[in-house]
Amino acid sequence: MEEYDIAIIGGGPAGIMAAIAAGKNSSSVILLEKNSSLGRKLLLTGGGRCNITNNKPLKKLLNIYPQKNFLKHSFFTFTNEDLFSLFDFDFIEEEDNRIFPETEKSIDVLEGLINCLDDVVISYNFEATSISDDFVINNRIKANKIIIATGGITYPQTGCSIKNYSLTSQPLTDIKYGLTPLITKKDLSSIAGVTLYDVVIIYKKTKVKGNALFSHVGLTGPGIINLSNEISKSLSYNLLESNPEVDLEIAIDLCPKFSREDLQDKFSKDFQAKGKTMIKNYLKQFLTNSFIDFFLDEINLDGQTQLSRINKKSKNRLIENLKRFTFEITGFNKDLAKITIGGIDLANVNPKTMESTIMPGLYFAGEALDLDGPTGGYNLKIAFSTGYLAGLSASEK
Ligand SMILES: Cc1cc2nc3c(=O)[nH]c(=O)nc-3n(C[C@H](O)[C@H](O)[C@H](O)COP(=O)(O)OP(=O)(O)OC[C@H]3O[C@@H](n4cnc5c(N)ncnc54)[C@H](O)[C@@H]3O)c2cc1C
Repeated sequence: MEEYDIAIIGGGPAGIMAAIAAGKNSSSVILLEKNSSLGRKLLLTGGGRCNITNNKPLKKLLNIYPQKNFLKHSFFTFTNEDLFSLFDFDFIEEEDNRIFPETEKSIDVLEGLINCLDDVVISYNFEATSISDDFVINNRIKANKIIIATGGITYPQTGCSIKNYSLTSQPLTDIKYGLTPLITKKDLSSIAGVTLYDVVIIYKKTKVKGNALFSHVGLTGPGIINLSNEISKSLSYNLLESNPEVDLEIAIDLCPKFSREDLQDKFSKDFQAKGKTMIKNYLKQFLTNSFIDFFLDEINLDGQTQLSRINKKSKNRLIENLKRFTFEITGFNKDLAKITIGGIDLANVNPKTMESTIMPGLYFAGEALDLDGPTGGYNLKIAFSTGYLAGLSASEK
């Protein structure tokens, strides 16, 4: 049997980073990866450009996460500057503090990380299926400490699998889809590709500002997929047992800069002053051009109608729909869900070390844990920081 001080299961961003940190202190580290190559999901990130992290100041950054208290220590232990120092190229900062490699290629990030793995044995095509109480993996590899970095469940073609949750007896929270496009009851294929910019998307009491994009099956875009986390969390389901039943309504405030009262005032004035203007032309100041015909169809208003001919009832309907345009949601587009919500219950993991409080010597990192963030580099930030802390702690003890 092969013996190592530390065995890391999973060669995604969290596992690679854990191996980099562990390799610095310990001469006997093995990284076990099910695929024939590392970081398959990392290659897909940021549309192939890799939105590697988010550069908000640390305290502001932490406030974005539902699990900020748990993440605090790992974020302070391994900062963005620590991450950048691993690479021999620079990074660029885009809107909302999103960070990308200047080469704009996720493969460069992956290769940069792999270059830091000099002191680590890598075993490819190794799928961990069992861990014994005395830390023997698949009856083949014995380790003093084990780090689980097997990721979540989405994009199974990259190596993730629901089976991993039973690798240990560590308690779990409900496993759910996260950052996922939504399927609408209404067929939106006629406006597929149209984007609504800077709208406010509303689900119950949650409001998310961002862009919404229409697809052939429903709604996507950053605003929608960020809201999907709240929607998914609000539904009672656990993918270990069943799929979610989705039947709910979301609304889009198409004109967040104007209140209903503002619109009433403006319409009263404009409908008199510009009486001959057709409504479909008038709406260009509020709505994306390619969305106007669909919008007017939905509210049963002929686009050729002149403003002076719109009666009070139609005007009120127009205002109501500009402020609250609703969609019935019937499902998650789960094949495109980017992250997993839920996982290893944080209540049984020490945030200062990432070690299990139930099974000493067992550590967790990355998306396998019950951690999630919105789009914008926040999820890789989780993977790198918790991965580093797990590797460091496992090699320090
Ligand atoms: C399309 C897409 C785009 C994304 N874009 C971004 C982005 O731009 N920015 C951002 O911050 N986040 C992004 N994310 C999320 C981000 O990729 C993940 O949060 C991150 O990859 C999680 O890292 P991880 O190491 O925990 O898990 P993973 O990346 O899933 O890695 C887990 C690894 O473990 C291996 N493995 C699994 N089970 C076993 C086993 N039993 N034995 C051995 N090996 C095993 C897998 O093969 C895999 O290599 C994106 C996700 C997707 C799907």
